[in-house]
Amino acid sequence: MDWKAELKLKFRARCRLGEPLSAHTTYKIGGPAEVFLLPEKQSEWIELVHLARLRKLPLTVLGLGSNVLAADVGVRGLVCSTKGRGDFEICGDTVKASAGAALDDVVRAAVKAGLSGMEKLSGIPGTAGGAVWMNAGAFGQETFDKLSRFYALDSAGRSVRVRKEDVKYGYRRVEGLEGMIILSAEWQLERGDGKLLRKVRRETLKTRAEKQPLEFPSAGSVFRRPQGDYASRLIDEAGLKGLKTGGAQVSEKHAGFIINTGGATARDVKKLIEEIQTRVKLKSGVELELEQVLLGDFSG
Ligand SMILES: Cc1cc2nc3c(=O)[nH]c(=O)nc-3n(C[C@H](O)[C@H](O)[C@H](O)COP(=O)(O)OP(=O)(O)OC[C@H]3O[C@@H](n4cnc5c(N)ncnc54)[C@H](O)[C@@H]3O)c2cc1C
Repeated sequence: MDWKAELKLKFRARCRLGEPLSAHTTYKIGGPAEVFLLPEKQSEWIELVHLARLRKLPLTVLGLGSNVLAADVGVRGLVCSTKGRGDFEICGDTVKASAGAALDDVVRAAVKAGLSGMEKLSGIPGTAGGAVWMNAGAFGQETFDKLSRFYALDSAGRSVRVRKEDVKYGYRRVEGLEGMIILSAEWQLERGDGKLLRKVRRETLKTRAEKQPLEFPSAGSVFRRPQGDYASRLIDEAGLKGLKTGGAQVSEKHAGFIINTGGATARDVKKLIEEIQTRVKLKSGVELELEQVLLGDFSG
């Protein structure tokens, strides 16, 4: 039996051949995953890492797909979604979440429990694992602020416990995570004023709805914030608000976002990204660096 048939037999409905990634990304864009899997147990993840090594297959981890642009031709190998395991719990002042837990659910529960340190992360539409992977943040607060440790598999499928002190991290960046699969994370929060925390959460969500084009599919900010400036300001200054390539458009509401106005392809988005980079460089001399992660082959 070939490896795909074996996976299908083992994972049943949690293994899908040719699953469209457009169903698993917030851009609602992306071709088929060669094999899409929803592992639940750690042993299943380990098995998949071993299989990928043995067969020399690429293994791509996907959370809620809110920071990725998946190629129209799809993604080769194994695309493993963490959505199969989304539990989390609060024990005293500690928050423990599996990688696939929706970050906003975790934040909401922490706020409800009167715990402070994650409230400004309200509304980030990714998973706990995805947030750790890139140190997601907003309004001056970052995932790593109160993170104490996370549990992961290394590229050989060995379990590792990584303490915050063991990694170098900064603005939307964590070093040394290549090939690692984050399985769960823990935050040590502080007791706060419940009423105030709920107010901060409400206001954070309100500001997001006012400033971000949440009515369209997107993957949030396309570019990293350049030193001392904002990508959205530079894009606006270059007169690019509303610029369109196919179904992809620079949002009129927030120039840092590219939205899918309907039927956009990954190629449309990629072309628009390159156009923005060229025109911002011409106007202000700044080279905008991509924050979103490209999955699959964009060479065609
Ligand atoms: C409307 C909107 C608003 C947003 N606002 C913000 C914001 O304010 N601040 C912010 O920081 N981001 C924001 N984002 C971007 C996005 O939500 C975050 O980057 C989020 O952390 C991505 O999580 P995810 O689970 O969706 O990851 P994915 O998009 O699925 O994956 C992103 C990368 O992380 C890797 N990855 C994901 N999970 C794991 C894991 N368990 N182990 C190893 N690697 C993993 C993937 O391989 C990929 O390289 C926004 C996005 C949208 C659509």
